[in-house]
Amino acid sequence: MKRDDVRPDGTRPGLSTRAVHAGEAEPRAGEPVVTPLAQTSTFFTEPVPEGEVLYTRYGTNPNHLVVGRKLAALEGAEAGLVLASGMAAEATAILAFAGAAASRNHIVAQAELYGGTLGLFRHDLPALGIETTPVDDDEGWEAAIRPETALLYAELPVNPTLRIPDFPRIVEVARRHALPLLVDATFATPINFRPLEHGATLTIHSATKYLGGHSDLTAGAVAGSEVVVERVRQKMKAFGGVLDPHATWLLERGMKTLALRVERHNANALALAGWLEAHPAVGRVLYPGLPSHPDHERARALLDGFGGMLSIVVRGGDDAALRVCSRLKLMRAAPSLGGVDTLVSMPRFTSHVALSREQRHAAGIDDGFIRISVGIEDEADLRADLAQALAPEAPAGRSGTAG
Ligand SMILES: *Cc1c(COP(=O)(O)O)cnc(C)c1O
Repeated sequence: MKRDDVRPDGTRPGLSTRAVHAGEAEPRAGEPVVTPLAQTSTFFTEPVPEGEVLYTRYGTNPNHLVVGRKLAALEGAEAGLVLASGMAAEATAILAFAGAAASRNHIVAQAELYGGTLGLFRHDLPALGIETTPVDDDEGWEAAIRPETALLYAELPVNPTLRIPDFPRIVEVARRHALPLLVDATFATPINFRPLEHGATLTIHSATKYLGGHSDLTAGAVAGSEVVVERVRQKMKAFGGVLDPHATWLLERGMKTLALRVERHNANALALAGWLEAHPAVGRVLYPGLPSHPDHERARALLDGFGGMLSIVVRGGDDAALRVCSRLKLMRAAPSLGGVDTLVSMPRFTSHVALSREQRHAAGIDDGFIRISVGIEDEADLRADLAQALAPEAPAGRSGTAG
């Protein structure tokens, strides 16, 4: 019996225990405690290979298998698969279900999505003969479905507005039409939300973010049933978006502390969000854990934690936001998220740089918008840093001695 499978009373171990142990080899005297790194592109076989040939591009390197099983255990899935990046995971998973064939050349997707995903739907998939209908209200899903629809696509919480779609309704539409539902749950992580438990077909992650957790690797991952994940694996073999063994090994190390890190991300972000909401220099705080968030009730019903991402709109618009970002000392600007270091970014320079001001406003990105990926530092230090950056600027100091 595997130590992560079942407790003595027959119930499943908790998520922290699964994060540490699940998917790894059974402990044996003399064997290393840590999964060895199989930094190799291929494996010896008999001259006539039997069974599954171990070739790293097939995603069957032992490091891939361990991380795939660990993610599956966390998501409550039968199987998991690691890929070269979040975008590789998305594109490969989508192309496992959709194609130019007239019977499956259409996707119905949430209108508000990560910028990279929007680019895929607006530019790259149409070039392959796949069109996407964006849905910007909860009622729109059903009406957007066509006979040639291949899949439904959702993201939650949304990067960077942290909106939460009406997930049970989307699941219900997917069920009624027997369509696969793919969900990017990068912001939530399996600690805060497990889409498969609610009826999704496939969970997708940018493992570059929280799963890795240390801003030191680029990776993607999916989890779902054996059949569905095998379908994605076959496409990964064809398109080649496999993850290098060393990055996979680092990802396993990061995932061991996922539950612990996410608990701290959740606690720090919730505390900062409440404090920021009362700050005179801040016009608006977007955080699903605040009662003021438009989807707060939904977040409470679906999520086990509200996450480490929060966004603020500072008074005074983009110039004021830029001034705040340049005055931060502990928090630094960088376009990624989900690591132990707190990072800030202004979407108008990063994820939404291609949009006009009007398009940004339509996407919920007001002037003065700053996204904060709250790290695991001491909350008091993060608060002090924000306090000094948000403070009114001291009147220009007089040079020379007074008097
Ligand atoms: C970063 C991100 C991606 C893309 O992941 P990469 O690892 O950068 O390819 C996809 N979805 C969301 C929500 C993200 O934040």
